[in-house]
Amino acid sequence: MKLNNDNYYSQKANQAYFSVSQVKDFLKCEAYAMAKINGEWVEPPTTPMLIGSYVDSYFEGTLEDFKARTPEIFKKDGSLKSDYIKAENIIQRVEKEVLFMKCMSGKKQVIMTGELFGAKWKIKMDSYIPHEAIVDLKVVQKLRDVSYKNGWKQSFIEKWGYDLQLGIYQEIVRQNTGETLPCIIAAVDKQEYPDLDCILIPDEQLEFQRRELRWKMQRIIDVKNFNEEPKRCGHCDYCRATKKLEKLILPDDLIVFNQ
Ligand SMILES: [Zn+2]
Repeated sequence: MKLNNDNYYSQKANQAYFSVSQVKDFLKCEAYAMAKINGEWVEPPTTPMLIGSYVDSYFEGTLEDFKARTPEIFKKDGSLKSDYIKAENIIQRVEKEVLFMKCMSGKKQVIMTGELFGAKWKIKMDSYIPHEAIVDLKVVQKLRDVSYKNGWKQSFIEKWGYDLQLGIYQEIVRQNTGETLPCIIAAVDKQEYPDLDCILIPDEQLEFQRRELRWKMQRIIDVKNFNEEPKRCGHCDYCRATKKLEKLILPDDLIVFNQ
């Protein structure tokens, strides 16, 4: 199957190829990931996703097209809803930054495929600058928010697995071109006065994320190929929407469940 911008997100493409977001679905909940692949569970885009798409399409030069096919971003009187006025504000801010615009000056939404960990992968890059860099655009809540994982501080990049995402992009680009390119997140946030930065992810961090994923992939491949039964996480939207009550539980079960 040859991928293009029309079929990249199709069910057929998602069945034939792994993508980073699909693998993240599997790591969250196997049953949920399979339901999405099989078309049994469809998620309408959320407002944060639409804000991201709004800014993406501006850089791609397809903003007018995006507006035309996304009526939900407008109020009844035809003006933009406040979330998308925020997106406009973000665009005006990043346009003033030479470094940001340079990072976003590459070829937009470039699709490549490759093989990794015994599976076929597809990637779509926000800004690919041949011989120079791979850049992914992120519109985040707050750029400098930190969270904790196992007692360690982490930024939004580790929290949302953007280092894994670019680690995969780097390897697939290497397979296609022979070049190992620097990987950058061009990030801007949604504060009234947006914070923004271009973040170079160290190669060691990309390599570490690839290695971490390697040992998880066989299980994911087995589940996707129907050779293993998908496990239900028990608490995601999909699991709650499809759960069957089979027995009485005890108060303590509620506490264990929430851990
Ligand atoms: Zn689940």
